[in-house]
Amino acid sequence: RVAIAPEQLQPEGIFLDRPQQHYLSRVLRLKEGDRFIAMDGQGQWWLAQLSENPEFATVLESIPVQTELPVSITLILALPKNGWDEVVRQTTELGVTTLVPVLSDRTVLKPSPNKLDRWRRIAREAAEQSERQILPTILDPVTFRDYLALPETPLERYICVTRTEAPHLLAQVLASQRSSAGLQLSPLEIAIGPEGGWTPGEVEQAIASNFQPVSLGSRILRAVTAPAVALSVIAAALEM
Ligand code: SAM
Repeated sequence: RVAIAPEQLQPEGIFLDRPQQHYLSRVLRLKEGDRFIAMDGQGQWWLAQLSENPEFATVLESIPVQTELPVSITLILALPKNGWDEVVRQTTELGVTTLVPVLSDRTVLKPSPNKLDRWRRIAREAAEQSERQILPTILDPVTFRDYLALPETPLERYICVTRTEAPHLLAQVLASQRSSAGLQLSPLEIAIGPEGGWTPGEVEQAIASNFQPVSLGSRILRAVTAPAVALSVIAAALEM
């Protein structure tokens, strides 16, 4: 499987860039006439065949697939000091749609453009390996408070806080929301705090912006563990 950009697909076939040619011929050891799957990161897959010209592959047919969760999931993450590579990889595998790295009251270190490029590359690799149809988007970092001040879109919004602050478990809230909404699923947004947790002011501002505080259970999870747990709970609720 190879991820391609939508513009690489032309009426004549797929134009392959240098890294893709290298991957197909050197890593996968494919030759002229061999077939592979091209994914455009926007939900479309094609069965393609290498031609005589290594820069070009012929499209044989489109492949129907459904590997995405039924609604989009936006994960807002206060940047932990370390471990972001793993968080990006795991949450991509679990079906995240958009990752929003936020600077919070207790984390103010802005990641470099190099780090963002690295996370986007990791998301791409993880999406390929998990056979995602969609390549998750990693937004540029923003402060959590600025993000909350953006105009609201119709989303179910949750903020993860530890048990003393949130009486309701995310799993329970999603289950009751699903049973009352029936098949009407709306996109979800979920926020996870940094190592030191959210400040009370941030939680207050989030609640004022329609975020519901939820717990992931009685044990306190590390900031790099909580995203995968939250995504697993959401995926389980949506795929049941
Ligand atoms: N002492 C901090 C506190 O009480 O908020 C612990 C922060 S925890 C290491 C980092 C983040 O992970 C939290 O801000 C929260 O968003 C999330 N988190 C960790 N365990 C959680 C749990 N059991 N329920 C809900 N959120 C949790």
